[in-house]
Amino acid sequence: MSNNIAVTEKQVESLQLPPVIKRIRDYQQISIYKDVNPLDWEDWQWQVKNRISTLEAISQIVKLTPEEEQGIKKASGRMMMAITPYWASLMDPDDPNCPLRRQAIPTVAESHIGPHEMRDPCAEDRDSPADFLVHRYPDRVLLLSTEQCAMYCRHCTRRRLVGDKKETNNPNKFDKAIEYIRSNRKIRDVLISGGDPLMLEDDVLEGLIQKVRAVPHVEFLRIGTRVPVSLPQRITPAFVSMLKKYSPLFVSIHFNHPREVTRRCKVACDMLADSGIPLGSQTVLLKGINDRPYIMRKLLHELLRIRVRPYYIYQCDPVKGTQHFRTPVAVGINIIEKLRGHTSGYAVPTYVIDGPGGGGKIPVGPNYVLSQAKGKYVLRNYKGKIYTYLE
Ligand SMILES: *Cc1c(COP(=O)(O)O)cnc(C)c1O
Ligand code: SF4
Repeated sequence: MSNNIAVTEKQVESLQLPPVIKRIRDYQQISIYKDVNPLDWEDWQWQVKNRISTLEAISQIVKLTPEEEQGIKKASGRMMMAITPYWASLMDPDDPNCPLRRQAIPTVAESHIGPHEMRDPCAEDRDSPADFLVHRYPDRVLLLSTEQCAMYCRHCTRRRLVGDKKETNNPNKFDKAIEYIRSNRKIRDVLISGGDPLMLEDDVLEGLIQKVRAVPHVEFLRIGTRVPVSLPQRITPAFVSMLKKYSPLFVSIHFNHPREVTRRCKVACDMLADSGIPLGSQTVLLKGINDRPYIMRKLLHELLRIRVRPYYIYQCDPVKGTQHFRTPVAVGINIIEKLRGHTSGYAVPTYVIDGPGGGGKIPVGPNYVLSQAKGKYVLRNYKGKIYTYLE
């Protein structure tokens, strides 16, 4: 058995990294942005206001394929297209398989509904005891703070919710959720996600954080966001000094490809890390984007370089219209196999499947216990060599 799982020397060699991927172009090289003032470009509100959501605009940035054109036309009514100029500037105009492009531009494949796909695969709506709250695990809750994101990812698990609909900005709309947290003393960890919480203005997000922090039994706060990747301009000195007041507060950042780890993104992550905010990553395993071990390894190494600790790799949830992104589970297990032992333990995240129907995150990975009986464990190491541990 061990022979089948061992990674050969030759395979290890084939994991050698490609040269560092360079930026394709500067934004001024894109005709519609050539006159944009760098101060505007650095203004996150400008980035949000100038997001690309039409066929006309995107076709000035990349050479669209018929699949993309059709996908964009069909996306109205479904989760809309919205791409920050920053993200658009990273896309390869000539390569439809560009990982940044595939995550952001809809294609016709989205209108195909796969056999096991669902609207709400993780049954979050069912486990919601109050508006905007998901309570699945005993000691922690997920708080859905907004439905807006800087960019709408085509593989989004919450595509049933997210989009640029009008939201009420009534500051009391979370009262029931806060009341639920307050009355449930087991809740020691609150994960503020969405949508993307960083789409809220500083004072609105701070108001929400304060209400959660005011609950005495909440020890630990987390924010889940993609903004440092899709809109790094949002991480301003004012924002960071607001956030650091609420320590311990961790930030989990959604990264999928090494090309997302740009110098600009590093600046944003540095600001957070320099303020003592621990950073973790969340990655969705996506076919043709990060499903090769050397690409994933490159991403994880880049993350450590910017002080982001890899946390989870998710199997792409069976949400409607995402079949073209999903890989077999064996692909994810093989990625972990090629990481563990071969590189820094800090670079190895946990690969999880969110149990369809509300099972929560279930870790899946290579099996290192070959047999176990009477105080004797037979184990294999990352090279496939066999060891016996006696209890
Ligand atoms: C992911 C998630 C959490 C947090 O889980 P951890 O494993 O602690 O990161 C909490 N609640 C819900 C509903 C989740 O999906
Ligand atoms: S940032 Fe997150 S919530 Fe928003 S579209 Fe992307 S995956 Fe969905």
